Amino acid sequence: MRIRLILGTSILVALAAAMLLPWLAWREAQRQAFEAAADMTRSYARAVLHRADKTSMQGAVAIRELVRQPHAPCSPDSLALMRRLDLSSTYIQAVGFVRGGVVVCSSMGTDPLPLGRPSLRTSTGYAIYPRVPIAVLGPSPLMALERAGFVVLVHRDLPLDISTAIPGAALAVLHLEAAPGSAPELARGLVERGWLARLGAQRETSFSDGKRLIVLSRSRQFLTVAVAAVPIAYVQERAAAIAWRLVPAAAVAGLLVAAAVLTLARQQRSIPAALRHALRHNEFYLHYQPIVELASGRCVGVEALLRWKRATGEQIGPDLFIQVAEQSGIITRLTERVFALVEADAGAYLGAHSDFHVAINLSAADLQSSAIVDLVDRFLHKSGARPSNLILEITERGFLDMDNALRILAALRARGIEVAIDDFGTGYSSLSYLEALELDFLKIDRSFIEAIGTKAPTSQVVGHIIAMARTMGLRMIAEGVESQVQADFLKGQAVQYAQGWLFGRPMSFAEAVRLAAAHQERAAGVHA
Ligand code: C2E
Ligand code: CA
Ligand code: CA
Repeated sequence: MRIRLILGTSILVALAAAMLLPWLAWREAQRQAFEAAADMTRSYARAVLHRADKTSMQGAVAIRELVRQPHAPCSPDSLALMRRLDLSSTYIQAVGFVRGGVVVCSSMGTDPLPLGRPSLRTSTGYAIYPRVPIAVLGPSPLMALERAGFVVLVHRDLPLDISTAIPGAALAVLHLEAAPGSAPELARGLVERGWLARLGAQRETSFSDGKRLIVLSRSRQFLTVAVAAVPIAYVQERAAAIAWRLVPAAAVAGLLVAAAVLTLARQQRSIPAALRHALRHNEFYLHYQPIVELASGRCVGVEALLRWKRATGEQIGPDLFIQVAEQSGIITRLTERVFALVEADAGAYLGAHSDFHVAINLSAADLQSSAIVDLVDRFLHKSGARPSNLILEITERGFLDMDNALRILAALRARGIEVAIDDFGTGYSSLSYLEALELDFLKIDRSFIEAIGTKAPTSQVVGHIIAMARTMGLRMIAEGVESQVQADFLKGQAVQYAQGWLFGRPMSFAEAVRLAAAHQERAAGVHA
């Protein structure tokens, strides 16, 4: 059941990866294109603003000088000054003197030149005439800025011709005081004065009206705003170009992830078959990890830990295959095999050493049928071991049927076999649940031992577990002891037993026996 679920989920995950990655790449292309287009549009707006500010500044300076001059308007001295101002200012085409809306004399000569009607009178005293045709200066009209009787004529050029590079793009300079519906002061391409509302009090803003990407940039010195707008279609073209680069790579990556997920899932599915094969071909063996009495340092027993070495030489850890064996109902056959292996490895030794124990791990399914009781009976009978030679480790994970499990545990304990609760504290055991079980040992999980002496939030938990085990009259075995600091702490807390790398890694039974004998000798030496 579970396996099928895993396979189903894996297919979904694989599909998701195969589709999600290209989609993310496409989104990324859009983001990059928008960012690049926004950067570009912003730099156009700033260039326009720079040019507009320079022009306004030169115009203002020229008019100020003309206003201050002592000469009579249109006198030779005044005309000479006008010519000098015209020549020394890059953006100024001509300066002149105005009377009654007509330029009566100017740096170009003295032909009178009517200005027409201004489109705007600003609060700073300027009248702006956006289009003044002046034949002598060329076919395109100029813009005139007039104040206090003097006028400056400037080109209507915008600095960059982006509309040829980007069809539909627009640049403009707008005056903040112009009437809402009026034509732009300066523009190439279509712009809307209504966009100014988006600027508010900001210096610069960028936004999209759905059709264009727009940047507004306000002048620091003048009441003008530069505008640059680029059609969204252009941004999308750029996005498509980027997507052509990113999406295929992402699609390949997505397919690779999908293939990896599916391969893993296939492997998962095939593990039960491989487990059956391994049982038939004796690919399982046991390692034994020493368990020591902390007070004396004596090795009092071992825990049997299952190992799987495939014919290919590949080692597969129990963390991987025990769960699959549990889910696919093979676990009881594995447990049988564990008993057979213990019998072969340790039967004779146990028969001769009634105070040495082997701890065997049981799964929830083992406690569902009395087959386990028969199995233990057969083991004791055939090996010559005594009940005191066995400790059965059960976990709090999934007692499928509590009453059944209690009955089977009672039958085992009635034979004098002791029972340990394994991995204590990692599951969702409630205290009442724990009290209902008749137990002899509590194994303190490695995660709590690891936390001893650290600042981890769980570092206090071990003390509570110890206190609780003591209240319930359970002896304790600390798991995963790796350092002397941990061992000393546990000893100080009167924890009776421990196992872990500090005392010995999982090893063959013969090695474990040698280690126990060495401990024995050392202990005897100390007492002599
Ligand atoms: P477990 O019963 O908690 O076994 C202890 C695990 O901690 C073992 O991993 C052991 O090698 C490891 N260990 C021991 N001392 C240390 C230490 O100081 N530091 C660290 N980092 N690790 C230490 P292993 O052998 O990989 O077993 C993993 C789990 O697989 C076991 O956890 C047990 O739940 C399950 N298992 C192993 N053999 C059997 C078996 O025969 N039957 C069943 N049902 N489950 C088994
Ligand atoms: Ca265990
Ligand atoms: Ca454990």
